[in-house]
Amino acid sequence: MELYELTIHELQAKLRAGETTAAEVTASVFRRIDAVEKDVRAYISLMRKSALAEAARAEEQLRKGEAGPLAGIPIALKDITCTKGYRTTCGSRVLDNFIPPYDATVVEKLRAAGAVFTGKTNMDEFAMGSSTETSHYGTTRNPWDLGRIPGGSSGGSAAAVAAGECIASLGSDTGGSIRQPAALCGVVGLKPTYGRVSRYGLIAFASSLDQIGPFTKDVEDCAIVMNVIAGYDPAESTSVPAEVPDYRGFLGRGVEGWTVGIPQEYFVAGIDPEVEAAVRRTITLLEGAGARCVEISLPHTRYCLAVYYIIAPAEACSNLARYDGVRFGFRAEGSRDLIDLYKKSRSAGFGAEVKRRIMLGTYALSSGYYDAYYKKASQVRALIKRDFDTAFASCDAILTPTTPTPAFKIGEKTDDPMQMYLSDIFTISANLAGIPGISVPCGFSAAGLPIGVQFLAGHFQEGRLIQIASAFEKLAPSEKRRPAL
Ligand code: GLN
Repeated sequence: MELYELTIHELQAKLRAGETTAAEVTASVFRRIDAVEKDVRAYISLMRKSALAEAARAEEQLRKGEAGPLAGIPIALKDITCTKGYRTTCGSRVLDNFIPPYDATVVEKLRAAGAVFTGKTNMDEFAMGSSTETSHYGTTRNPWDLGRIPGGSSGGSAAAVAAGECIASLGSDTGGSIRQPAALCGVVGLKPTYGRVSRYGLIAFASSLDQIGPFTKDVEDCAIVMNVIAGYDPAESTSVPAEVPDYRGFLGRGVEGWTVGIPQEYFVAGIDPEVEAAVRRTITLLEGAGARCVEISLPHTRYCLAVYYIIAPAEACSNLARYDGVRFGFRAEGSRDLIDLYKKSRSAGFGAEVKRRIMLGTYALSSGYYDAYYKKASQVRALIKRDFDTAFASCDAILTPTTPTPAFKIGEKTDDPMQMYLSDIFTISANLAGIPGISVPCGFSAAGLPIGVQFLAGHFQEGRLIQIASAFEKLAPSEKRRPAL
């Protein structure tokens, strides 16, 4: 086994026992990057030089016995996360030359824990997309089948973990952008509760929905990264000053006596039969482990996609107003006056999907339409949240498929935005309700493509997600294949 193939907890043990060094681990990951990145294209920028320096510093800490929980662990960051002195593009031409003057809080926290940053991963432009195809920097390929998309918008972060081009990574999730690519790339992805992880230094897409979370190879690693990144941040007004438990404490506890809700609205026409079979197998396994799986109803599910595609574009058009070519980012040449500068810079800087969202959002917020669209959507959003509150009064967790199908082919949905939007049909509700969700690998299609199952829990119940996900992982250990790159 090569070092890049190991998990955080396996590497921690080896590093602490002196069986390997942070420099060796980092070198192994960069050798892997050199071997497979030309095929996968998970990264927009690599941070090779600083990674070596960080590895040396981690080694020093390990030697002195002062090592943090991620000392010497190579971690990749979605390129939506500000890194001081390192280009942060958000997958857009608009930010092609943007070098943030500060680090995101999650970056500071990971650094303080000893992490080694490998680079910035590819993503859909401004996180708008489900396939990484709207990136200005080209499409990332799915490590399980290079002709297919890795999911999105955090496709680079998911593919990098699956391909061994980092040990873990961070992504952001506004409507599914962590859980959907995690499912399609066969890794674990967690979207925390709204307010659980600070978004200071996360480039904003839709501010009432965005959250940062980890991609890892297994559930234990997910708990380790969550221990580092969760918690209140005075610099971020939506972060919540709630106590953070030790997420590792939820591992291996089992689900004996749990009630798990199976929402009937998530098993409908359009779901791929292999996905449905894999998810139903998960239900049987959990029942065998002592959980009671009961059918429930989340009656407002059918409005989720419509509500999301009003609220998210409305917030995005407001957040993206700042990219006008004046203060930072791309500026078009040869404009006549200020309005012309705005027009030319925004027309040339943004891609088609981002423009579509700006138009949708501007329309939904314009006077005369606000009540009919944004206000109405916000009211229906409250009903969607109430569905979950009711369900969690009697269920410990909810189980659904993460995605309706395994990874689709590159180019298959680029001409049909509606088809693309439908790939988040099962993940969007958690963002609207503000609840946490995790995707865990639960099997493979006959063609060898990974399938994910999603668990949802009430606000600030990430511990429960880790508990049920780790219980399920134990029940299906045979699923630990790796892509043959
Ligand atoms: N695919 C969804 C969208 O395009 C969700 C993206 C995300 O979670 N960032 O809006």
